[in-house]
Amino acid sequence: MTISNLSSRIPGFHRMSMAERLEAVAAFAGLDDAATGQLAIPGNIDPHLADHMIENVVATLSIPIGVATNMRVDGRDVLVPMATEESSVVAAVCNSARQCHEAGGFTTSLSGNLMIAQVQLTGVSDPENARLRILERQEEIAATCDGCDPMLVRLGGGFRDLEVRIVASRGGLMVVTHLIIDTRDAMGANTVNTMAETLAPAIERWTGGRVFLRILSNLADRRLARARATWPVEAIGGAAVRDGMISAYHFAEADPYRAATHNKGIMNGVSAVVLATGNDTRAVEAGAHAYAARGGRYSSLSHWEVTAAGDLAGSIELPMPVGLVGGATKIHPTAQACLKILGVSSAAELARIIAAVGLAQNFGAMKALATTGIQKGHMALHANNVAIAAGAVGEEVARLAAILIGKRQVRQDVAAAELQRMRDA
Ligand code: NAD
Repeated sequence: MTISNLSSRIPGFHRMSMAERLEAVAAFAGLDDAATGQLAIPGNIDPHLADHMIENVVATLSIPIGVATNMRVDGRDVLVPMATEESSVVAAVCNSARQCHEAGGFTTSLSGNLMIAQVQLTGVSDPENARLRILERQEEIAATCDGCDPMLVRLGGGFRDLEVRIVASRGGLMVVTHLIIDTRDAMGANTVNTMAETLAPAIERWTGGRVFLRILSNLADRRLARARATWPVEAIGGAAVRDGMISAYHFAEADPYRAATHNKGIMNGVSAVVLATGNDTRAVEAGAHAYAARGGRYSSLSHWEVTAAGDLAGSIELPMPVGLVGGATKIHPTAQACLKILGVSSAAELARIIAAVGLAQNFGAMKALATTGIQKGHMALHANNVAIAAGAVGEEVARLAAILIGKRQVRQDVAAAELQRMRDA
């Protein structure tokens, strides 16, 4: 197979085998044998499966899965697999969960497995009337939606509710229909998108308008996972630590610049479990951040208070559209194995555990920030990565990392010099 000279237009690229595609990419980018060989190493996923999951596959990327210990959720101890490239994330969950394990751990709940599909209607001169004309058809709409997915209905899911909103836009008034669907153990994007597309022609007929978009909303605010936990003040190091953490929370609640980082910490935990279980990280992240801004100003996803007994109580509530079927969850063997570690039998259980992990992560980050600062713990783990990047192997890694930490200079240039010194000694 030949490719045009340094052109990114590679005819038939999608029809090539993985090996042929890699060859074409290597030629285009001038990859050396080491880089090409690295990309050719299969991960713990069958290359044929990878090739069918997405388009134009040339390689796979392995991300470490760490297991968080000490988590107790709704009275059950659970080990939580977390897929992340970032050091300190798993350790933070373990430490945070340890400090509230004796006090009972995390209590969780879920608002329901409801997803929203939107149908955008434009070009109606009488939007208020159109809105009512759609609402009058609720029974017909329910039947159409349920008719799209008899299997989901058999499983107890399907159409639940109808909302029609009038949205003022730069392009005029739009009539936006929300189909509210119980998607049970599926995240449900494909499920509800099919329903929205099927219903669209009828909405045009009833209103005389024109439908454009028909797709789910990632602001899944009918699928809220909640978690709360209380950390005894003596278990966290006393009232001064608690008050520092409360102050950190007040900062995040009041300031979007801080809230973005505060919530990023929460998502360190959330996304790691979402990814480990083969779920859609972007869907959960989009939902979380949109929910964090629902009041008109971006703010903290978590809340922290002092109980009457003086303990630290944390709570979190965020959209959690995750599934046990659909997408990669069922077909990625590693995701399946991770679900087995978790021992969950419903998407609801999974969503609730993920919310608890998000809260644990948030506790860990806030405590570190309010006390020693984030860099101390972070750097200790980061030093290992810097040592490896500098070329340390085997026992050299820990020795070099210790030297870097001792010098308080966890930097690539220092690592290279110290490694040389170690080897010369
Ligand atoms: P899916 O269509 O593969 O699976 C859902 C279907 O599985 C249901 O419709 C039902 O018929 C069947 N099913 C079998 N057992 C079930 C059970 N116990 N509970 C519920 N349904 C069961 O997948 P999906 O969940 O509809 O869609 C998820 C995928 O869609 C993800 O890969 C996501 O990345 C992708 N996606 C996301 C977006 C977005 O977030 N904006 C948009 C499009 C697609």
